[in-house]
Amino acid sequence: MPIAERMIRRVQEFAVIKNMFEEGRQLKAKHGEHNVYDFSLGNPDVPPPAAFRKALREMTESDALSFGYAPVAGHRQVLEGLAERLRGEHGVAVRPDLIVMTVGASGALNDIFRALVNPGEEILVPAPYFLGYTNYAFLVDAVLKPVPTNRRFHLDLEAIAAAVTPRTRVVLVNSPNNPTGAVYTAAEINELGQTLEKASRRLGRRIYLVSDEPYRKITFGAAIPSVFAAYPHTIIANSFSKELSLAGERIGYFAVHPNAEDAQEIVDAAMVVNSMHIVNAPSLLQQVVAKVLGESVDVAAYERRRDLICGIMQETGYEFTRPEGAFYLFPKSPIADDARFTDILKTERILVSPGRAFGTPGYFRISYAVPEATIAGSREGFQRAMRKASMTS
Ligand code: PLP
Repeated sequence: MPIAERMIRRVQEFAVIKNMFEEGRQLKAKHGEHNVYDFSLGNPDVPPPAAFRKALREMTESDALSFGYAPVAGHRQVLEGLAERLRGEHGVAVRPDLIVMTVGASGALNDIFRALVNPGEEILVPAPYFLGYTNYAFLVDAVLKPVPTNRRFHLDLEAIAAAVTPRTRVVLVNSPNNPTGAVYTAAEINELGQTLEKASRRLGRRIYLVSDEPYRKITFGAAIPSVFAAYPHTIIANSFSKELSLAGERIGYFAVHPNAEDAQEIVDAAMVVNSMHIVNAPSLLQQVVAKVLGESVDVAAYERRRDLICGIMQETGYEFTRPEGAFYLFPKSPIADDARFTDILKTERILVSPGRAFGTPGYFRISYAVPEATIAGSREGFQRAMRKASMTS
């Protein structure tokens, strides 16, 4: 066997995703791009803000642009800018030396888990959860332990408290959430902080909260409470993939709360991991985003799409919880077998992801980071798929 045994299953699982893309490509080739309603990818299509393009143009023409290796943690100006922004968002004295620039939020999570989690230890995550978490846990031989959420996909704090064991190292939350669009409330986050404090005391071992926040700027009226204010032993992972629509440019960061237990050791270790994997995060992008830290994509565009897709789902009889942020909807599959239902949707040239890919069978995910015309055009297909489903069940 030419590849490592532990990779064999991973490669097979990856093939399932690759096949999904390939099927989508074939459908588009056969029926034409505009006749396929592809809601399968979380790839932002709202353009980056004009200020970003301007800063990029100016930076590429500036003699101040540096092309050499950057400091492992990142350029000073971006770290200082981010610290200031985070102080404003959280009301906590965030320090630039506790921030590290990474390759997206995924790079941040990989650095943090490698720094914190021993093989066999648990990362607790409310389900449904982002598919990537399975991979990040795999890379550090951790156990990703899903904990159910409530009916509206908000935190079930009793379930979290009950799921903690002496091997729990991290609780990982993601709000606004992929795939549900849930935005956790201040009361929930505060109670989560208290739960983790109590559990850490009881077990005599610190449980860290890792907050994955790439959709922080994409909310439709819901306030985003501060995780830093709720629990000091918190590390925030974030990126510019969604807030500036720069997903392909791979730029993100993590920030450790200044009062987190062993904050400096965690940053030092995670920085070593960063250096081992990538040396430094993309330097040009660091220098450009430092100039536009207050900017964000046009969130109203996502809100219009949210309203459009929710209207269609409602009219065609699907059960769903209205998303409060991000750009996903997670409706209930009208039949228990979500993979079967996504196949039915495919016969209508509608591509979505089955709920089981997010640890929650019986649902499916719609990514509405697509043009409004795609959403509007899918109405009849969703209606027919609902009828077909009622005939199979
Ligand atoms: N976390 C969540 C919840 C995501 O949805 C994604 C990407 O879709 C990531 C992390 C990874 O984001 P990045 O592109 O910043 O690595």
